Amino acid sequence: MQMKKAIQNHCTELNSIQEFNPQAVMGKFTRVEMCRACHSSTLHHFLSFGLMPKPNGFLTKQNLNKPERYFPLNVDFCSTCGMVQLEEVISPNELFDHYVYSSSASYPMVEHLRNLAKELVTRFSLSQKDLVLDVGSNDGTLLSVFKQLGITILGIDPAKNIAEIANAQKIPTINDFFSQVSAKKILTSHGTCKVITIVNVLAQIPDWDSLFAGVKTLLHKEGTCLIEFPYLVDTLKTFEFDTMYHEHQSMVSVHPLSIALRRHCLEIFDVKHDPIHGGSIRVFISHIGVRKICKRVDVYLDEENTIGISNPDIYSAYATKVYEIRDEMIQLLNSLIHQKKKIIGYGATAKGNVLLNFCRLNHIQISAIVDSTTFKQGLYTPGSHIPVVSESQLDKLNPDYAILTAWNFADAILKKNKQRIKKGLKFIRPYPIPTVL
Ligand SMILES: [Zn+2]
Repeated sequence: MQMKKAIQNHCTELNSIQEFNPQAVMGKFTRVEMCRACHSSTLHHFLSFGLMPKPNGFLTKQNLNKPERYFPLNVDFCSTCGMVQLEEVISPNELFDHYVYSSSASYPMVEHLRNLAKELVTRFSLSQKDLVLDVGSNDGTLLSVFKQLGITILGIDPAKNIAEIANAQKIPTINDFFSQVSAKKILTSHGTCKVITIVNVLAQIPDWDSLFAGVKTLLHKEGTCLIEFPYLVDTLKTFEFDTMYHEHQSMVSVHPLSIALRRHCLEIFDVKHDPIHGGSIRVFISHIGVRKICKRVDVYLDEENTIGISNPDIYSAYATKVYEIRDEMIQLLNSLIHQKKKIIGYGATAKGNVLLNFCRLNHIQISAIVDSTTFKQGLYTPGSHIPVVSESQLDKLNPDYAILTAWNFADAILKKNKQRIKKGLKFIRPYPIPTVL
């Protein structure tokens, strides 16, 4: 009965979206009934973004006139373990078969990955005989650094187009999802891994049991699995809500992750914070009992307990603030449009598309989005249908305002545009409250 009501609500909402995007149709999705981390059914709804297209579903000009699938984007928290996850999920094949995110396209990300590889090689004294596996290896940016340092490497990525790019650049990459099944195949073909890296992909993996069973199978007895992901506690503090979207099915903290790992006889032995992506953590994992547990692990668990990551109050306050940010953003842009100001977006990011669609903004209000990623240029943003252009078009566009849709690289963007800022270009930072810089 409740499900029937939800479907009716989606249909009503779709009718209103069709006024904004006549090509909008409903896509297929599955409702999540069980917590991915602790397996309990104590999931509680706290936030709705409404219906949205896939945030990485950039469109060609020809596709603008074809049906565009929309999916619900609702968020739950688990009152047993504090895990935050999407209420509905889309099939991984639909999301990742052809992917448009490339690690090497972003300079700060390349630097970040280079430092990470160097750190791991030094800390775990890796040598040429050691195998490093990168799960969700993308175009091989991280692995290429290990390769330069003389380490044996292997990547696995489900996106056919991206795996082809990596292989062409001599980064050996298996085109598949990482799971217990693919892990067994890798064990047979390559043996155990001294290091397994899972950087910025944990949130995209729906079946954690298959993932961690795969890690358990492949990890060398003294090996380390490193997982890096945007930290839920930072998201709760900064209100940067646009990291919640269909590909990011989980918003993770240390406590729920440790519960899921323990089911597979794995444990966290160290945690480190990193400012990238609005606040991320690196979690170091080993087989149970192999390494001394660093005190930092308890510091994180205690903080999560103090904040109350399983407490409904924190989530209801968070949702209120998110709706406030959306309303402020719409108000600010409406006032600028009323003053006939030209507005663009800076960064054709998935998170930017969440913000634009949540605020129901489109190509009428936002004339273009600039982005340095070559293969996004010439495409159009999902739902809002804003053309993506190269940064070299900026002067020709001559905008009055630019929304920092890639706010995670705000410092680099502002530095790059110092001269334009002097000439009058103003940037809008969406969080923690929309502000003209
Ligand atoms: Zn849970």
